[in-house]
Amino acid sequence: MIRAIFWDLDNTLLDFDVAEKEALTTDFREFGLGEFTDEMLSEYMVINRRRWQALERGEMEKQEVLEGRFREFFGLKGFDTSIAAAFNDRYQELLGETICFRDDSYELVKGLKGKYLQCMASNGTKKAQTGKLLNSGFDKLFDLCFISEEIGIEKPAVGFFDVALDEVDKWLEANEADIRGEYLGPVKPSEILMVGDSLTSDMRGANNAGLISCWYNPKGMVNDHGVTIDHEIKDLHEIAGILGRS
Ligand SMILES: [Mg+2]
Repeated sequence: MIRAIFWDLDNTLLDFDVAEKEALTTDFREFGLGEFTDEMLSEYMVINRRRWQALERGEMEKQEVLEGRFREFFGLKGFDTSIAAAFNDRYQELLGETICFRDDSYELVKGLKGKYLQCMASNGTKKAQTGKLLNSGFDKLFDLCFISEEIGIEKPAVGFFDVALDEVDKWLEANEADIRGEYLGPVKPSEILMVGDSLTSDMRGANNAGLISCWYNPKGMVNDHGVTIDHEIKDLHEIAGILGRS
């Protein structure tokens, strides 16, 4: 039985790609760097992805991802690398301002409110994710929010989920009777569905912590990371079928 849902935010409930491009374009303009081209976006994304993956493997600190990616990118393009920290600070604010929902995600989460404990489980920064929650209205729908920057541990490390499960237990003990009619006792990891687009953070994290893994894979990518996928969906609406069968 599924008692709780952990939702990844970026590129699962919200379209991060759209927000990323818009935020970088605005940030470039504000810092007087001129036009942010599609070619620049491609180059930046390679650097960004490589650094996030190093973070997920525990090989890099968060600030070295956030500021370091811009230092590296600005160095490559011949821009002033000393503005990387300030540029990233503003970027985190701008990310929270462009909201683009995936697959009616807002209505989906709203429809499940009061039926399941719903939590955000994100590796984003506190500043950006807080802005996204407020501007999307998800802040009023999620029962609990887990942001790696606040916990101090990133997905897929099991420590992130240990902290989250403690909070889930407390929440269920206090509230499960209201939504289900009774409290079913301490939660087991196998009673939590982790929904996310990333194999290396969300699905590996679910495997590490013993959660049910639900891979949101709208582009039909290949699972080349050796992680176990319990459910694979192309559209978030398919969640209803998984919950209905549990
Ligand atoms: Mg994601």
